[in-house]
Amino acid sequence: MAVPKQRKTKSRRNQRRMHLHLQTPTLVDCPQCKGKKLMHAVCKTCGYYKGREVIDVLKEKKAEKKKGVEKKESETPKKPLTMGSLSKKKEK
Ligand SMILES: [Zn+2]
Repeated sequence: MAVPKQRKTKSRRNQRRMHLHLQTPTLVDCPQCKGKKLMHAVCKTCGYYKGREVIDVLKEKKAEKKKGVEKKESETPKKPLTMGSLSKKKEK
């Protein structure tokens, strides 16, 4: 295994890591809804790109809402948990 010959100072380490920081994405104004959106990407607010509608935002929202309701229903266990079902030992 390769072992470093000399210890790197904090300064050297920090200089190396200088470029590892996260960059804020460039946001531009949407020409359709005047909101902020990523460059060269479909607007998430109105679903428009290059002047035409690509995503039906309202439909998507409705579908998401429906999904959320279904999820909530599935999240709740139908049978109440008992100590026997929770215990790791199998009942014989
Ligand atoms: Zn928009």
